[in-house]
Amino acid sequence: MHRFQYYIDGEFLEGEARFQSIDPATGDVWADMPEAREADVDRAVDAAERALYDGPWAKMTATQRGKLLYRLADLVAANAQKLAELETRDTGKIIRETSAQIVYVADYYRYYAGIADKIEGSYLPIDKQDMDVWLRREPVGVVAMVVPWNSQLFLSAVKIGPALAAGCTTVVKASEDGPAPLLEFARLVHEAGFPAGVVNIITGFGPSCGAALGRHPKVAHIAFTGGPETARHVIRNSAENLASTSLELGGKSPFIVFADADLESAANAQVAGIFAATGQSCVAGSRLIVEAGVKDAFLSILKRKAEAIRIGSPLDMATEVGPLATKRQQDHVAALVEKSIESGARLVTGGQRPEGAGYYFPPTILDCDGVSSPSLAEEFFGPVLSVVSFETEAEALRLANDTRYGLASGVFTQNLTRAHRLMKGIRAGVVWVNTYRAVSPIAPFGGFGLSGHGREGGLAAALDYTRTKTIWLRTSDDPIPDPFVMR
Ligand code: NAD
Repeated sequence: MHRFQYYIDGEFLEGEARFQSIDPATGDVWADMPEAREADVDRAVDAAERALYDGPWAKMTATQRGKLLYRLADLVAANAQKLAELETRDTGKIIRETSAQIVYVADYYRYYAGIADKIEGSYLPIDKQDMDVWLRREPVGVVAMVVPWNSQLFLSAVKIGPALAAGCTTVVKASEDGPAPLLEFARLVHEAGFPAGVVNIITGFGPSCGAALGRHPKVAHIAFTGGPETARHVIRNSAENLASTSLELGGKSPFIVFADADLESAANAQVAGIFAATGQSCVAGSRLIVEAGVKDAFLSILKRKAEAIRIGSPLDMATEVGPLATKRQQDHVAALVEKSIESGARLVTGGQRPEGAGYYFPPTILDCDGVSSPSLAEEFFGPVLSVVSFETEAEALRLANDTRYGLASGVFTQNLTRAHRLMKGIRAGVVWVNTYRAVSPIAPFGGFGLSGHGREGGLAAALDYTRTKTIWLRTSDDPIPDPFVMR
């Protein structure tokens, strides 16, 4: 059995308690994990606060911080295979995806390494004589980071990279459902030479570890990725310490296909948009909104492609769809499919969990035209596509915006003016036109409504990990006059 430790104040520790991690491809226990509870959360946050104000990190120049981040990026790239395999083993995300994504994770660290010494303050043209006033940008403080199981190395990189570039210190809570890749990543943080306490990586359960971290009095900001219901707990917890929050939550993203689109190309994007990562992707294009005239043709292409998908062991390079991460997730997907069929949705393909070991669920398409199916409103976080059709552009837009989420969206059309109208009209943080699921360290990402608030990626994300300090300096040597007049 593999045994993992977590990382607090530069040391690898066994944890207050232990729990077992399941291989989702088999349903068997494969690793033994350390579980942080309140006392370990305290140790980690205390270490992060000491590192923030007293340790070598506090004295480093921004350029030196950047160099450490470059070293970390190189170590991630050099250890890509091992990290990818651990992520696949512990979460079931297929090796084809984890091994491609980890290369990009290194690029995110590289991008923020370059940003570290480009975070500038400003000088204010103040409306008073003999005064110099400027803004310093300082790290916001100790940042608590809480991530879900899917793509943990990526979802933590988009937080750790900008936070360290800004000079913050952090306690990262890996998901209890598959913490192995982040616990291994801690070894690279150590090897890169970050001073003790700058990055602490723990894992544990939400209500004990996550809640203790989120309400800790020394935490200044909580960067959270997960579901909306948990985000409500995070906000309630932050009522204790009044920490600021950034929330990257779920989605029910519309994928609009017009009759003039290249249907084959749109179908490939749709298949990637909903079945990649076994649908466990916040940006999953889970609501297909297709022009009525091409609905049958488009569905038959999708059905053919969905049924040709290779389902198998996530560690096999040939596999295209692996298991869901947990039994809980498999049960949720199966139950929501059943509820949707009961409400009148027509099963186009998939829909039944297979016999045998592992938490598999096949690529599934539900035709929801003319019915009020829960699958159109609720997030599956699984490989299930719900389909509706439209007659007019206005109807397409109305259907696209018929959601309380606002994360991602896709539009497939050859009509340029229409594409522009939809870009403006769709209420989502990201609009992809004739493409889907593209991300970059340079481009901000995030949503609104039930999809959360705050942006990850880009320069602005690093600025979000800073707070300004206003400095007033009187430049006159004359004595200060009458104290009862404000100047
Ligand atoms: P989740 O909300 O159940 O858990 C996320 C994390 O929160 C875990 O580490 C968990 O331990 C922790 N947690 C649970 N209870 C907590 C509490 N009371 N206080 C503090 N932390 C607590 O999410 P999940 O089910 O693991 O992941 C799926 C969700 O994540 C989906 O809704 C998905 O859309 C979302 N997601 C969003 C993005 C994005 O960037 N927008 C990316 C990936 C996943």
